Amino acid sequence: MTDAPLEHLVPLPTPAAPLSERADVVIIGGGIMGTSVAFHLAEAGVRDIAILERDTVGSGSSAKPLGGVRATFSDPGNIVLGQRSLDAFEGFDARFRTDIGLRQVGYLFLARTPEEAAALEASAELQNRMGGDTRPIDARAATELNPYLDQDAIVAASFSPRDGYARPARVVAAYRAAAEALGATTCEHTEVLGIAPGTSTVHDVHTNRGSVGTDTIVIAAGAWSRRIGAMVGVDLPVEPLRRAIGVTRPLRPAPPVIPFTLDLSTTLYVHGCDDDRLLVGISHPEQAVGFGREFGYDWVPAFDRAAAVIAPTLVGLTLTGGWAGLYEDTPDHNALIGRARDVEGVLYATGFSGHGFLQGPAVGELVRDLHLGRDSFLDPAPFSTERFRDQDTRITELHII
Ligand SMILES: Cc1cc2nc3c(=O)[nH]c(=O)nc-3n(C[C@H](O)[C@H](O)[C@H](O)COP(=O)(O)OP(=O)(O)OC[C@H]3O[C@@H](n4cnc5c(N)ncnc54)[C@H](O)[C@@H]3O)c2cc1C
Repeated sequence: MTDAPLEHLVPLPTPAAPLSERADVVIIGGGIMGTSVAFHLAEAGVRDIAILERDTVGSGSSAKPLGGVRATFSDPGNIVLGQRSLDAFEGFDARFRTDIGLRQVGYLFLARTPEEAAALEASAELQNRMGGDTRPIDARAATELNPYLDQDAIVAASFSPRDGYARPARVVAAYRAAAEALGATTCEHTEVLGIAPGTSTVHDVHTNRGSVGTDTIVIAAGAWSRRIGAMVGVDLPVEPLRRAIGVTRPLRPAPPVIPFTLDLSTTLYVHGCDDDRLLVGISHPEQAVGFGREFGYDWVPAFDRAAAVIAPTLVGLTLTGGWAGLYEDTPDHNALIGRARDVEGVLYATGFSGHGFLQGPAVGELVRDLHLGRDSFLDPAPFSTERFRDQDTRITELHII
C-alpha cells in the first residue's frame, strides 16, 4: 500500500500566538469590547491577559467600515458612556498615534409626531444638563443641515454637533497594539469550545488549540455571547440580528457634508463618508433572529417606503454594494455589563444592540474597574443582567436604531 498524500489537510490560516496554559484574565472575543477591555486592564497593570478570538481580531460586528459615535441618548447611563467614549475618541490620535478617521459631522434625530418631538426635547435637555451640546431645532433648520429631507414631514429635530463617525477597524487595531505592547497576548483562530471548572484555577477554557486555566473570564463575544455564557451557566439574553448598510455609487453633483441623520419613526438613516457616496439603511422590520451575515437588498423596499415620506429624493437610489453584520440584541436593546452573580470569576460586556462601537472605550474602563474592584466613573449596576429578573428595572432608551 502506498502512502496517501494528505491532500485534504486544512492548515491554520496564520501562525497564531502560542496559547499559554494559564492567564490571569481570559477575554473571549477580539472585537471593540475585547480589545478595549484588554488595553484598559493592561494599562492598569494587569499583566497576564489573553484575548481568545475564533477568527481574526475585529472580524465580528466591529468589522463595520464606519461607526457612528455619539452621546445622544435618553438614558443617563448611555449618555455617560457616550460622552466618556467621545472624550476617548477625540484624544485617540494623540494617545495612540493613530488616525481613527474621526469626523464630527453631528447627529440629526428627526421627530415626525408631537410625541416624538416632546421626547427628543426631553432627552436633549437631559444631555445638556449632563454637559452635552444638543440643540432642539425646527424642520427648516433640519433641512438646512440635510437638504435630502422634506421639511413638511418633520415636526422637530435635534442636532448634536460633537457626534459623528470614526473607523472601528482602526480603533480595534490601536487597542490591540497598545494592549500587546503592555504584555497582553492575542490568540487568533482560537475558538472557545467549552468551559469547565479548573483544578488549580477557577475555570479551564477549552479551545481548538488547547486549554487555558484562569480565575477570570470576560465574555465579550458580541452576538455569540449567549453560547459562551451557557458554557459557564450564565444566562446572557443576547440574540443575533442581521443589519445591513447600503452604499451608493459616487454621486454627481457630490453630496454635501450631512450629519448622521436618523428618523425616529422608521429608523431610516442616511449619512456620508469620506468620499462622494452616501450610506443608507433601516432596521428591517421583517429581519428574523439568526447568525446569517450575508449582505442583501431585502431591506431596500422598507427603506424606500420610509424615504418616500421623509426624504423623497433618496427613493430608488442606485446602490453599488454594502455591508451586513450582526446586532447583538438584548430584550431592552441596551448593553449587558457586569459581574455574574451566581458564578465566580465571570465578567461580561456584550449586547450593545447597535451602539457598541461608540461605547467601546468607556466600557473597557468600566470592566477594568469591575475586575479591580474599584469605584468607576459610572455605577454599572443598571446594565447588569439582573434587570431582566425584574421587569421594572429595564432600561428605556429613545435613541435606539
Ligand atoms: C450594520 C451595523 C451597523 C452598526 N452601526 C453602529 C454604529 O454606527 N455605531 C455603533 O456604536 N455601533 C454600531 N453597530 C454595532 C457595533 O458594531 C457592535 O455593537 C460592536 O461592534 C460590538 O462589538 P463586540 O466587540 O461586542 O462584538 P464583535 O465585534 O462581534 O466581537 C465579538 C468577537 O467574538 C468572537 N467570538 C465569537 N464566538 C467565539 C468563540 N467561541 N471563541 C472565540 N471567539 C469568539 C467573534 O469572532 C467576534 O470577533 C453596528 C452594527 C451593525 C451590524
